[in-house]
Amino acid sequence: MSSYVKDFMDEIKAKNPAQPEFHQAVQEVVNSLTLVLERHPEYRKAKILERIAEAERVIMFRVSWMDDAGEIRVNRGYRIQMNSAIGPYKGGLRFHPTVNLGILKFLAFEQVFKNALTTLPMGGGKGGCDFDPKGKSDNEVMRLCQSFMSELFRHIGPDTDVPAGDIGVGGREIGFLFGQYRKLRNEVTGVLTGKGLDWGGSLIRPEATGYGAVYFAAEMLGTRNQTLEGKSCLVSGSGNVAQYTIEKINQLGGKAVTLSDSNGLIYDPAGIDAKKLDFVMDLKNIRRGRIKEYADKFKGVTYTPLTLNLDHNPIWNIKADCAFPSATQNEITAKDAKNLVNNGVSVVAEGANMPTTQEGVDVFLDARIMYAPGKAANAGGVATSGLEMSQNSTRMSWTREEVDGRLHQIMKSIHRTCVDAAAAYGTPGNYVNGANIGGFLKVARAMLEQGLV
Ligand code: NDP
Repeated sequence: MSSYVKDFMDEIKAKNPAQPEFHQAVQEVVNSLTLVLERHPEYRKAKILERIAEAERVIMFRVSWMDDAGEIRVNRGYRIQMNSAIGPYKGGLRFHPTVNLGILKFLAFEQVFKNALTTLPMGGGKGGCDFDPKGKSDNEVMRLCQSFMSELFRHIGPDTDVPAGDIGVGGREIGFLFGQYRKLRNEVTGVLTGKGLDWGGSLIRPEATGYGAVYFAAEMLGTRNQTLEGKSCLVSGSGNVAQYTIEKINQLGGKAVTLSDSNGLIYDPAGIDAKKLDFVMDLKNIRRGRIKEYADKFKGVTYTPLTLNLDHNPIWNIKADCAFPSATQNEITAKDAKNLVNNGVSVVAEGANMPTTQEGVDVFLDARIMYAPGKAANAGGVATSGLEMSQNSTRMSWTREEVDGRLHQIMKSIHRTCVDAAAAYGTPGNYVNGANIGGFLKVARAMLEQGLV
């Protein structure tokens, strides 16, 4: 088996050169599947792994637009349609200068397993643009979104591919993208999720990823008869996921003490309560400012700039009980993971996608802490997007309580799937194996049943 896995990974690297994040994401899944492939020779024979790691379709396109100074700008847009065996492609759009083919392929690959875990019929996809929204006016963002959608509209649709937000794509961008789609197609359908409440959006969708990550952490704590009550929590990032992670931590009696952005981090030992969180939401979502302003506003808060020559991220070297990485990929290295474990962190629930390097994951697994990978812990976002799709199809809208109740049930179900799959394949308590195996089995069965297409 080990030679099969090695050959498989060698081929992935040869066929997808210069895409280290994609290699990392595939390797992590393959590491979990050794026993599955041994017990299911039919999956090897049908080359399920080889087929799952090859996108069904990759679309790359020019996005040209004009800035406020009348200068022409040219960006690159992408949509990776990874796997549709269990439903229409579903996954977010990311606008960030670091966006490239390899990063979006890693995200699309992860999305396939995550979406399978949600219990809803959704395939996996991801897309984005190497555009940096920082410092751009609303009009510039609108022109970029319109140019992006002028190509993307021909590849998506409510039964084909339903994008959503991700880093740099929030309610404002979804609005501009939806407006352009509606104009070009002359139809109003649930083609995007994360829409405004007045035009087809779902209650709780903005909250869902952060709330879901905290629900998942609570489930993990429950396996050791503990709760979040009184627990101190490190949260990185300060965008959508970070904000609602903190809101739910507060509701469940925990105390969030950090936030960050790409320039630095704040540490507030008194805790980021509801009032301070209102300030953060206004700062990040309306004024689009930097997290440093939090330290200027509130007493007793320290601000630490993030410098590139540090060998660790200081946010992960603060004493706490739980950690919710909610910024970006590979923000926790092996050194950071050791700092977390040595400082007594016993729960890590990933709101971000793949925020921990493979070496960091190994540190968590060796220490046997409760560690939930993003494809399980942050699946509440896409699950609630699935609920938005259902509401759009039936032209109904559900109450806040109904959507939140369903989200909570889905997170419990994902937790149960992870626990059961990990135990069934000989690694009880290992949520990495549980999530990878649970997600893989559902997609593999569907692919096998649908033949070689
Ligand atoms: P936002 O754009 O709302 O916020 C992203 C936050 O992360 C910002 O504070 C940003 O800081 C910080 N950040 C982004 N890139 C970097 C970087 N390279 N280094 C340091 N900090 C960085 O995005 P979301 O909150 O929506 O997404 C956060 C993470 O959660 C991502 O990994 C995303 O894929 C994942 N996720 C999001 C879902 C959703 O529903 N939104 C669903 C599932 C996963 P700055 O302002 O300086 O850029």
